[in-house]
Formats: sequence, structure tokens, C-alpha cells
Amino acid sequence: MIPYGHQNIDDDDIKAVTDVLSSEWITQGPITPKFEELIADYCGAGFGVAVNSATSALHLACLSLDVGPGDYVWTSPNTFVASANCALYCGAKIDFVDIDPFTYNMSIEELERKLESADKEGKLPKVIIPVHFAGQSCDMKSIKRLAEIYEFKIIEDASHAIGGKYFGSVIGDCKYSDITVFSFHPVKIITTGEGGMAVTNNFDLADKMSRLRSHGITRDKKVMNNYNKEEQWYYEQIQLGFNYRMTDIQAALGISQFKRLHSFIDKRKELVSNYNDKLCELSVITPFVGDGIDPAWHLYVIKVLGERTHIFELMRKMGVGVNVHYIPVHFQPYYQKLGFKMGQFPEAENYYKQALSLPLFPGLLPEQQEHVIDSLERVI
Ligand SMILES: *Cc1c(COP(=O)(O)O)cnc(C)c1O
Repeated sequence: MIPYGHQNIDDDDIKAVTDVLSSEWITQGPITPKFEELIADYCGAGFGVAVNSATSALHLACLSLDVGPGDYVWTSPNTFVASANCALYCGAKIDFVDIDPFTYNMSIEELERKLESADKEGKLPKVIIPVHFAGQSCDMKSIKRLAEIYEFKIIEDASHAIGGKYFGSVIGDCKYSDITVFSFHPVKIITTGEGGMAVTNNFDLADKMSRLRSHGITRDKKVMNNYNKEEQWYYEQIQLGFNYRMTDIQAALGISQFKRLHSFIDKRKELVSNYNDKLCELSVITPFVGDGIDPAWHLYVIKVLGERTHIFELMRKMGVGVNVHYIPVHFQPYYQKLGFKMGQFPEAENYYKQALSLPLFPGLLPEQQEHVIDSLERVI
């Protein structure tokens, strides 16, 4: 079965990991800050905080922006559940903004409409989490403009989008947001096995996130309550944090993977343009790319016009590991119990009925891609 996504690991990656294994430190040590600096510098952000997953990064990002009980957080229904769960971890309420039928990202018209009515009811969100679906940036200029009017904070969920650009700005430079989060799960653009990072230009947010990553413990004498220079072992827990640390084993893999970021992106683009060329003759809808957007292409999603379940099954029978991204979050039983209803976000729901992700990863061979295209042609 040709999978829909797959990591790309070479000998240098393996050597980077084994070098750490035979070094002094294997948990968070000297390599993790190097990885943080590398990613932050690449994005043009001031600070990077590496953690054990993007889910943890989203949680810490919400906490650092003081999301808590009584607050509202809004995200897209067309995402992985983690983009919404992070608000619930903080005791906040979650809500969704329906998607744009062309980009499959958060719709600006819907956002505007929803903000107007939330304003009247006094239920404005504290934080909005736009998700750069498939690696294509949301309309961040509009979201930022609305943030200035309605005074909400922005966390970009860029789990799909490292290496992408938006009107010449690198995703992660936080030009239009407070914090940007990346995922390094194996199916994403670069991997650390499991791992994630939050980048920001705000020192205080970075400082809060790095303290919360490690139990809320500090050794910074400026913030300790009872600092005493005689007691060199002394540290203080000043708030309730977690163990969300990234290991140096993971960070070393990340540094090694990062060297191939651009070759990965180029390869993804080449595969995407080949799909676009070949599929335009079939009755499927290929991805639309908005103005000023240079996607990182985490996913290649088409919309099929026929019976999707049947097409899915036939493709799998032909050895093509197609997938579906995403089941709208509010369809999940857990979210239904929170009170969300079917039919509440119709664009995300219509999209979901037709969506099909085709295999896309740097190691996809030309003959494998041919097989995907041939199979689709036959099935449709
Ligand atoms: C993968 C993913 C996450 C979660 O990433 P992890 O590193 O697995 O925690 C969050 N949001 C989106 C959009 C994702 O695709």
C-alpha cells in the first residue's frame, strides 16, 4: 500500500541520533536550544520553544495567552482535533468558524459575521487559532485586521505549513500572529519522531511557555520568591506546569531533517504540479491556491464528485493508501456531547463528504505516482 504520507530518514539523520545517544545528555540538553534557534532564525521569529508535540505547543500557547475558564477560543472545524482540544485543556470554551469552500481554510466572511454577533452578546473570543490547512496559509492579513478591531490574540496552527510563505513572509515569522505552532510528527514536512515547536517574537510568551514546559520550575533569581545565593541547588516551582520537554535525541533528528527542508518542499511541489497536470482531465476538483500564497503542501486533497466511500474503497483495493482530512471536529462524539450539532458548519461538512487525500511525500516514486493517477482514472 502506498501511504498518504511518509517520513524521509537518511543516514545523516541516523548518525545525528546515534551521536546524541552516545553523548552525555539524551533528554533536553545542549542540542534542543540549537534546534530552537535554527527554526526561529529560519522563520525570522525571535524565540522558539521546542516541546514533545504540536499538541503540547498549542496547549502552552493558549496558557501563555492566559486562556482559562470563561474564555472563548475559535478555530476551524476542518482540522485535527488537537487544534480545538488545547482550549478545552485550559478550561475554556471552544467554537468553530466555518471554512471557505475554495481554500478549505477558515472563512473570513464567516469570521467577520460571527465576531459581529459575538460582540453583541459579549462573547468575543480571547484567542483565534487559524489552521494553515494542507500547508496553505490562511488569509492572515484579514484575520490580523479583525484582531485589532475585536482584540483577540492569534495562534497560527502551522502544523502543516513549515517552509510555506504568505505574501513573501515566512510562515512562523509571526508577522500576523502572537505565536505560531509547528508539528514534527512523521507525516508532517520534517520530523523529530514526535515533537513540536512554538515560535514567537514576544519574550514574555516564550519565557512562560518554556517554564510551563518543565513543571513551572524556574532557576531565574529575578522571579524566585526566596532566592538565596548560598544554596546552589535551589529552584522554585512558581506555577503548575507539565513535562512537555523535547529530548536532544529528537532535536538532533530535527536539525538533520531541517537541512533537507527545502529539498522536501521542492519535491512536494513537483509532485503537486504533476498531479495537477494529470488530474485536470478527470472530474475531480484539484487544490485552489489563493493570492500571495506559497504552500508547503503537507497534503494533496482533491474533491471527488462521485460516491466518495466507494472511490476510497476501490483505491485502497488497488494499493493506494488514500485518506480523508478531516472529519469535522464537531462531528466527534466528544464534541457532540459538548452540544455541537450536525449541520452547524455546512461548508466544512460538504467539503468532508467529497474530500480525498492522495499520497504525497518526498519519497513517492514516479511510478508510484503514476499508479495513483491511473487508479484514480479507472475508479472515476
Ligand atoms: C498533526 C497536527 C496537530 C498535532 O500535532 P502533534 O505533533 O501530533 O501533536 C495539530 N494540528 C494539526 C492541524 C495537525 O495536523
